[in-house]
Amino acid sequence: MNELCFLGTGGAIPHKNRSNAALVLNSQEDLVLIDCPGDAFVKLKQMNLDPRCISSVFITHIHPDHVYGLPSLIHSLMLNDMTLSVFGSEETVVFCKKLLSLFNLLDEKVKCRVRFNRIGPNEHFQLLPLSWATSIKTPHHSSSLGVFLELNDELGLLYSGDIPVYPPLFKGIGNPDILIHDCSAPSRFFRKFPSLSQMHTHSLDLGKLAQQAGVKCLIPIHFFGELDYSMEEIKTEIKENYQNRLIIPKDLDRLRLSASLLTTKDKT
Ligand SMILES: [Zn+2]
Ligand SMILES: [Zn+2]
Repeated sequence: MNELCFLGTGGAIPHKNRSNAALVLNSQEDLVLIDCPGDAFVKLKQMNLDPRCISSVFITHIHPDHVYGLPSLIHSLMLNDMTLSVFGSEETVVFCKKLLSLFNLLDEKVKCRVRFNRIGPNEHFQLLPLSWATSIKTPHHSSSLGVFLELNDELGLLYSGDIPVYPPLFKGIGNPDILIHDCSAPSRFFRKFPSLSQMHTHSLDLGKLAQQAGVKCLIPIHFFGELDYSMEEIKTEIKENYQNRLIIPKDLDRLRLSASLLTTKDKT
């Protein structure tokens, strides 16, 4: 496992510089895509990553910003003789099958074949062929799963997906070295729109949560594009309570995944 690539870092409503959230784990030979918004194929190309190298797609949940690009991705790969494994909860897999069937993308003539993998809560599974993973049921949506990845027996990386503040996220996995977590907006917007707290996390709470969980490197993501705030405000709120390394990613950023990530100076 060499690299974590940020195809998108935005929330449900994208910003001109931030597409819907999507990540890629790049091992040089294979790519694992985590969530699939509409422009995943183009973003991969912009990062000089070959979409034909995608072996697996993990879908965290079935809100449109995380899954609506899946038909387009398969359609873009339809001439390539390859198998792509789609992972998700039972509800997610049923939904993805329906979605792809609507476009006839599971037909014989489509050379890119899709293999579906239903993942239960707290299931240990291989996110082929890169690494072992553990799913974590989360309360954002009935289909939601977070994912904990063990990278090269060296680093533990936890991706929350969309999520409200949810301390059981860390149950059973110990302190994650790297936490990529929903950080939809600064706290003042959550005070203005209290129902947001049932679905998402604000930057002030995220700092507290990460500090309590002993996270060594925090990467906030899923920034709402429709609200007016700066990344400086996000950073200030997180740092009020969190003392370890903080990386605020931009679209098309890439991070080398190694133990030095946990000690290097902040990159914001
Ligand atoms: Zn979302
Ligand atoms: Zn969502």
